[in-house]
Amino acid sequence: MNKKYILAVDLGTTSIRTLAYNTQTHECSRIARREVTQFYPHPGWVEQDGAEIVKSVVDCLKETTKDLDEAEIYGLGITNQRETVVAWDRNTGLPLEHAIVWQCRRTHDYCQELRKNKRKCDMIHKRTGLLIDSYFSATKMSWLLENSKNVTTAYENGLLCMGTLDSYLVFCLTNGKSFVTDHSNASRTLLYNLNTQSWDADLCEFFGVPMNCLAKIVNNDCYVGDCVINGKTIKIGGIIGDQQSSLFGQNCVNSGDFKTTYGTGAFMLANIGSKPVFNKKLITTVAWKTREGMTYALEGNMYSAGSCINWLKDRLNLIKSAKESESLAGSVADTGGVFFVPALAGLGAPFWKGNARAEFRGITLSSTSAHIVRAVLRGITYNTRAVYDCMREIYPLNQREMRVDGGMTANALVMQFQSDIMHFPVAVSAESESTSLGACYMAGLCFGAFKDMNELNELYYASHIYTPTPHDEKRESNYKHWLEIVENL
Ligand code: ADP
Repeated sequence: MNKKYILAVDLGTTSIRTLAYNTQTHECSRIARREVTQFYPHPGWVEQDGAEIVKSVVDCLKETTKDLDEAEIYGLGITNQRETVVAWDRNTGLPLEHAIVWQCRRTHDYCQELRKNKRKCDMIHKRTGLLIDSYFSATKMSWLLENSKNVTTAYENGLLCMGTLDSYLVFCLTNGKSFVTDHSNASRTLLYNLNTQSWDADLCEFFGVPMNCLAKIVNNDCYVGDCVINGKTIKIGGIIGDQQSSLFGQNCVNSGDFKTTYGTGAFMLANIGSKPVFNKKLITTVAWKTREGMTYALEGNMYSAGSCINWLKDRLNLIKSAKESESLAGSVADTGGVFFVPALAGLGAPFWKGNARAEFRGITLSSTSAHIVRAVLRGITYNTRAVYDCMREIYPLNQREMRVDGGMTANALVMQFQSDIMHFPVAVSAESESTSLGACYMAGLCFGAFKDMNELNELYYASHIYTPTPHDEKRESNYKHWLEIVENL
């Protein structure tokens, strides 16, 4: 029987999805999904249960592979929410505590304290491409070692494993035979040196994380072991962090190609080729490392995008569904002079004002809910333009188009705004599961379903390309006004 299917697991923040990608028809099918339980033990803390995650993955894989023959399956790729940390027992494979999720702010004060040492911050930025923030994994690991008796006991007994969710899942699926992570996930920990492409002993010491508790780092297209699902033995290979996976899934395989994912937050990533470029306004990270070599990415994280739409719906009750944001905002010709800064969870790239709060400006007696909603949509596109302007100053971006995916790309008004304000075409990916697709492509490279990346380049197609309407002075001056508001926050 000919091999035909590549499987992918997407360990998302709110849900786990698995799918089968047909390499002959290029279609994704047999999608299974499970919600992930979120725990909020204190304000600002976010946890998940690693054991529940693994069980859900196995259940989803059983569903997805039910009618497939072992011989038809190339293998399984994995993509995951990045930075989230699990600590587990090397013997039992059981988590020692709940996983600390990327959104968790419990180490915020500790990071503020560390940031006072400017010399260290510069050194860390030069080595990791990151800034000291509770978002990244290192201080979450330090916290576990400081505060969990289970974790310290396991460490003292030489049984402690710590890592991101990819490494925990592979460990469990291979029954403890493989304790690995990939370069894209490792580069989100603050413990990985972009220049040496390995764990950094100084950084491990600085954050108090013993290097012998960390996984071995392997290439993204590396075969890492086997799992058995429904009695079928499936090879695992092709592990990649979610945003890098979406970059790969949207076939941004040439330097200068870039994409934005509009989900809860928005993430712009640009492929910057084989040499890292450092700039404090953006993050430098590994895109992927394969047998073809290392590829780096510049990343701009915007903390609030789709979450602003949820807020309009769930908290302000201005819209009944996310979709209604489009019709309501489209019912007025402009925002009536209203401006919105989408800082509901602080402001990320390129402003980095973590303590900023969202603001409306210019509200008058004539402002309506339609103006407000339109201003919110505009605010999200302005922030994206600011990241884009910053990125293209640092690195020459491909002049063809910005590729986009994620829930908000269903909103034609937002996508048209985005294209207009950037003076640039915006191409919506035809494949809504482009994050999973990235892991499928990576697994495909690993197991020989694709020859090389050039072959992937030809697989991309957009469902819609938004092109900019003619230049408008008012639009540009509105953007400048929005920038002034942000700069004075
Ligand atoms: P995540 O993976 O972060 O959960 P998704 O890519 O699934 O995010 O996108 C969900 C987000 O997209 C939600 O915040 C939702 O409000 C927003 N969204 C979905 N449809 C629309 C729409 N038509 N207009 C604006 N926002 C939308």
